[in-house]
Amino acid sequence: MRVLITGGAGFIGSHLCEFLLALGGEVVCMDNLLTGTIDNIAHIRDHRFTFVKHDVTNYIYVAGRLDYVLHFASPASPIDYQQHPIQTLKVGAPGTHKALGLAKEKGAKFLLASTSEVYGDPLVHPQREEYWGNVNPVGPRGVYDEAKRFAEAMTMAYHRFHGLDTRIARIFNTYGPRMRLHDGRAIPTFITQALRGDPLTVYGDGSQTRSFCFFDDLVAGVWQLMQSAVTEPVNLGNPEEKTLLELAKKILALSDSSSSIILKPLPIDDPKVRQPDITRARTLLGWEPTVDLDEGLCRTIEWFRQKAGGIRGSVTNMLFNSVDREATRSGYGAQG
Ligand code: UDP
Repeated sequence: MRVLITGGAGFIGSHLCEFLLALGGEVVCMDNLLTGTIDNIAHIRDHRFTFVKHDVTNYIYVAGRLDYVLHFASPASPIDYQQHPIQTLKVGAPGTHKALGLAKEKGAKFLLASTSEVYGDPLVHPQREEYWGNVNPVGPRGVYDEAKRFAEAMTMAYHRFHGLDTRIARIFNTYGPRMRLHDGRAIPTFITQALRGDPLTVYGDGSQTRSFCFFDDLVAGVWQLMQSAVTEPVNLGNPEEKTLLELAKKILALSDSSSSIILKPLPIDDPKVRQPDITRARTLLGWEPTVDLDEGLCRTIEWFRQKAGGIRGSVTNMLFNSVDREATRSGYGAQG
């Protein structure tokens, strides 16, 4: 099989590249490196792997046959998509159109990496795929949420109008090695703060909930969905729901950190609850997560420790200080 992964140098995309190479596939990894990085794929030395630097909002040309197109390109952290609002809208809208057009041209199966953000600040809990969501189109998160909602609509239009074989994965908060230190999302931020001995910045009163899925489980679920015949959207996530305060305390305990926890103002439109109902994935794909939060966090903390470990003393501080500057410039992580 020959597979194109857009966003292949990103956090999930790069893990998918390795997963598919291990299955014996040939992988074309495409990325414009806006939020992805060569570091994520530099270790892959395989004649079946090709990297193409390209922005998929422009016409996509890939020589030769393709059996699958997995469309994972997009900024995915609230910091990133608020720093790159137009690119986020473009990769979700014209970018998805181009990726679909390529799949049609090649007769390839297509999978869209969609998101739990299509449910917005949900009024139904846990979220089932039948729920249409509660999204503020003009709020700061609207650029991501609406781009992904458009991408789902465009995918279904290609399925219905052109008969393209399509899948839609609604991915809930995923974490693990290769998240960037300055990613801004809760888990990498808390781990970085805990390891540095800095206070963990919990937004709001920390009572908002999320349900975190380890990347290994997610990648397996994506491929099971691709192999299925399910063309409706499917939630992929771990239903183990935690408040952000519980998450922060857990990370302190697991990393053996003496950092404190401080409260910062809640960002605009931050969803109050989030938990996937994975009945559809369980029944139609036979998929469910196997890595619990404690185990996944331990593995992630270990990776972050090693990443900072090679760099000592003042250099470590420089590394972490640049993280702070990044968060401050975005105006997201440094409120209050
Ligand atoms: N959050 C937090 N402190 C941080 C970063 C994030 O309390 O330093 C909160 C954020 O307000 C949200 C939750 O953690 O309620 C998850 O945020 P994240 O950016 O990881 O993903 P989201 O689910 O909001 O896309």
